[in-house]
Amino acid sequence: MWRTRIGDIDVFRVEEMLRPGFDPAFLYPKYDPAVLMEHPLLARPEYFHAETGRLISSMQSWLVRAGREVIVIDTGCGNDKVREHLAFQRFHMLDLPYIANLAACGVRPEDVTMVINTHLHVDHVGWNTKLVDGRWVPTFPNARYIMGRAELAHWQDPSKGPAIQPEGVPAIRDSVDPVVAAGVVDLAEPGDEVAPGVRLEAVPGHTPHQMAVRIGAAGDDGLFTADVFHQPMQIYRTDWNSRYCEVPEVAIATRRRVFAEAVDGGTVLFPSHTGFPFAGRIARDGQGFAFVPLEMT
Ligand SMILES: [Zn+2]
Repeated sequence: MWRTRIGDIDVFRVEEMLRPGFDPAFLYPKYDPAVLMEHPLLARPEYFHAETGRLISSMQSWLVRAGREVIVIDTGCGNDKVREHLAFQRFHMLDLPYIANLAACGVRPEDVTMVINTHLHVDHVGWNTKLVDGRWVPTFPNARYIMGRAELAHWQDPSKGPAIQPEGVPAIRDSVDPVVAAGVVDLAEPGDEVAPGVRLEAVPGHTPHQMAVRIGAAGDDGLFTADVFHQPMQIYRTDWNSRYCEVPEVAIATRRRVFAEAVDGGTVLFPSHTGFPFAGRIARDGQGFAFVPLEMT
């Protein structure tokens, strides 16, 4: 079981899958394989699968216990979901032991008090719902689901999210619409403190209204960075956007701001898809940045 602590807040990682994912040249249109030679850390098997030339990609939730709140941050891909788009084959009709992995952290679905969706992409909303008797129902029956008001509106406007990324629509239909219809969604804004010591922050670019989640206090804090970056190589190449970054220039500016602030604050970053140890800090490296994987004790 993966666990760390920020101040008096416990953080667990709930794995859905950890396996080779995208070819970096597909995920990053600006990809240059020289980065692996320049920064040997990035060629480690934790991050790069040499046999296939693919990036090791984690699909997971972060689980945060803050006071009485049991908070699931992002919900992976989900079981039983039809994902026919070619790039999303690895998310198609999954049957993975995510709920058992949650139980290994001492948490049952009914114990979860809050779910936070940083943004509404296919790999961040999947376990919002589960299939019961042919219907999608909330996986966490006692939780409020926190979504950004503007992010949800973006996907409810046919001229926006669905037009920009039509391959994302099936996830909205089976993993977002049903929780909205169930009346369990609370719409939130950047700046909201959703639980004591748990605050939302704007990190736009990957989606126009993506939010990060900050925990702890200045000098001892953590930031769940959603998809500000997918892989450590973007710490060294901050101008490399993924092909799924919807507002490219804004995504770059946000990435650089988050890294600069993380250096200054000593903040532990908890990204969504980075391989073991799954979290880390940022150091300055000349004009740029370097990754400092979290030391696990
Ligand atoms: Zn993602």
